[in-house]
Amino acid sequence: MSAPSVAAPLLHLRDLAKTYHTGEVEVKAVRGVTLEIQRGEFVAIMGASGSGKSTLMNMLGCLDQATGGAYLLDGDDVAKLDRRQLAVLRNRKLGFVFQSFNLLARTTAIENVELPLLYTMPLTSAKERRRRAVEALERVGLGNRLDYHPSRLSGGQQQRIAIARALVSQPELVLADEPTGNLDTRTSIDIMGLFQELNESGITIVMVTHELDIATYCKRVIVMRDGRVISDNVNADRRLAAEALATLDGAEKEANVA
Ligand code: ADP
Ligand code: MG
Repeated sequence: MSAPSVAAPLLHLRDLAKTYHTGEVEVKAVRGVTLEIQRGEFVAIMGASGSGKSTLMNMLGCLDQATGGAYLLDGDDVAKLDRRQLAVLRNRKLGFVFQSFNLLARTTAIENVELPLLYTMPLTSAKERRRRAVEALERVGLGNRLDYHPSRLSGGQQQRIAIARALVSQPELVLADEPTGNLDTRTSIDIMGLFQELNESGITIVMVTHELDIATYCKRVIVMRDGRVISDNVNADRRLAAEALATLDGAEKEANVA
């Protein structure tokens, strides 16, 4: 047997930068970010509006290219990959979750979740697409809503569908940009509980939030300001969503009795 190789970090950013040029104006959205994220981490990226969080996330998700520095995803320098290789990488390794869910309205839950499997190489059969979509929806607790259209579901349920869609290709990394931004407090904690479960099962999660409350459910908190990382800390007081929900429910019951 060969000696175990030293695993590369899942994400490795070296002086990563992004400058937007719009007409005469130059916006330095990300100004040199260096960091590593290992497999199994659950990272919150925080910072005021305009601090570069979404720009950074778009680069992490290979949706947008850096204008400086390097980004290695699982050891691969993404700048050296062509469009097709990037598409394959995105499809195999990454799942995306957005603030506004981004579901197709005229399409059922299961059809929404099957969607990413239409673009796999090699192709995934219709039967296999369905099997995996059902499995993903069951995993997020919506096995009984397969044929519902998003409009008939609550915001929290819609976000669960979006998470199932992110999971259906069995990604190693889930990137979520303000996934609780459109949800009430209880539903937000509920969604954080789902992310904590996924993280426990081995999926690496990087999510943007501007709510400190939400970041307390993550294992590591990175704060950005003006395109730079200004702090990066392990969250020693990480809260468990399941416990927070139980406390909330207890408080509600007491209020009802009173
Ligand atoms: P955040 O997600 O933290 O609110 P963004 O990454 O969206 O921040 O934006 C960082 C900066 O980059 C802002 O000044 C924003 O106006 C600018 N910016 C973002 N996207 C673009 C774009 N496509 N073209 C030009 N400027 C942009
Ligand atoms: Mg943003």
